[in-house]
Amino acid sequence: RKTVAIVGRPNVGKSALFNRLAGMNISIVHDLAGVTRDRITAECRRGPQVFNIMDTGGIGANTEDVLTEQVQVEAAIALDVADLLLFVVDVTAGITTIDESLALILRRTKKPVLLVANKADSEKRRMGTAEFTRMGFGDPAEVSAVHGHGINDLVTTIVETLDIAEEEPEDEQEKRRNARPLKLAIVGRPNAGKSSLVNAILGQERAIVSDVPGTTRDSLDVFCTFNGKNYQLIDTAGIRKQAKVDDQVEIFSIQRSYQAIKRADLCLLVIDCAGGAKMQDRKVAQMIVEENKPCILVMNKFDLFHPHAKQKDRIEELTEVMRREFFFLSYAPLIATSAKNSENIGKLFVQIENVRKGAQGRIGTGVLNRLMHETIENTPGPLGRSPQTFKLLYVTQVNETEDVAIPVPHFVMFANRAAKMTEGYLRFLESVIRKEWPAPGVPFRMSVRGKQ
Ligand code: GDP
Repeated sequence: RKTVAIVGRPNVGKSALFNRLAGMNISIVHDLAGVTRDRITAECRRGPQVFNIMDTGGIGANTEDVLTEQVQVEAAIALDVADLLLFVVDVTAGITTIDESLALILRRTKKPVLLVANKADSEKRRMGTAEFTRMGFGDPAEVSAVHGHGINDLVTTIVETLDIAEEEPEDEQEKRRNARPLKLAIVGRPNAGKSSLVNAILGQERAIVSDVPGTTRDSLDVFCTFNGKNYQLIDTAGIRKQAKVDDQVEIFSIQRSYQAIKRADLCLLVIDCAGGAKMQDRKVAQMIVEENKPCILVMNKFDLFHPHAKQKDRIEELTEVMRREFFFLSYAPLIATSAKNSENIGKLFVQIENVRKGAQGRIGTGVLNRLMHETIENTPGPLGRSPQTFKLLYVTQVNETEDVAIPVPHFVMFANRAAKMTEGYLRFLESVIRKEWPAPGVPFRMSVRGKQ
């Protein structure tokens, strides 16, 4: 989905234009909760053509903010997120010095800019638009955000400039995504029970085995259906069984895991929980984290884990030990299985579908911004409330990979003194977001941009 940012100095009518665009036809405003104070993004829908609009006016929140700082922040955000910038000027005011400096900044972004001359309410006022041509962004689009004049043409220009394709309705998109087999990488160290798990899933010796062209023979892909849903198991153990390589040798096992993880929608990290976590388990887990992949921790051989203790104690003990071992994979839900006895395979698939479903949501920009600002107010970072600490300006969720089965959210924080937002503090903010939107099994990318 393309994003159009509305930029311009205060009072040129950015919010009015935003409202117009968001209110067009059957538009749906995303962040209902944030409507009054920090309505920031919405979608503009014209038939099947949809784009997001971003009002930079609410950024920086209060009017006491230094103007130039405000302008720079807007440009920084636009630079990062937008595909097109609507540069709004006011025909009744003519070109001001702030317009001129903003023009310089916008030109440096190298993003396409559409100049919009607002408040062109009357014939007389429209005469004034010609002056703006000399700003170097071509002839301005004349609009009156308040009266609705010129908005249709503006949308047409936006759609043409961005070459916006017709969008499938959301439920169609979801249907299509869900129809594709979900790619599950079955990874873990030798003897953890990967082959046994694959067999337990298939309920029989492997049925349909096929090579995916273009991949090295690091894994076998097995297609299967479970509860009416399609899966593609990327089986890193199967190849060994075929090649009859000694279990103990396993020289290429790490490389093989890596290739499988990269191709997967979701990784099933199989651990021999009775044998305990080993170096190689941690290595594979680390790869999953580095590749930013959704993951479930499959605690296999649970039948051998303190078999004589009470069930409840066993689960508690397992959870405690493994959470500590895999503290860096805290987003991954944990499930105990016994592949050998085909136990909890159904539950594993319930969990897989939970991960898929949980990832489909997103947290509204208004809610997100309020949540982050409140959190920072109540629990400031390492430097407390000192003037040297960071200042969060704006947070937004950008998902780079839209059309994948399990999208991984990326939260971008725009801040001044950005370097002061430490990795640890970002992880804390992540935990706060997860209270609103748990998304089990899905890693959150958190990054900071802005002035140092
Ligand atoms: P892989 O190397 O990860 O593919 O591991 P395998 O599936 O070949 O399993 C290694 C050994 O562990 C085999 O002897 C399996 O029978 C055994 N095994 C696998 N899963 C379980 C389990 O859940 N419980 C028990 N008791 N043994 C298991």
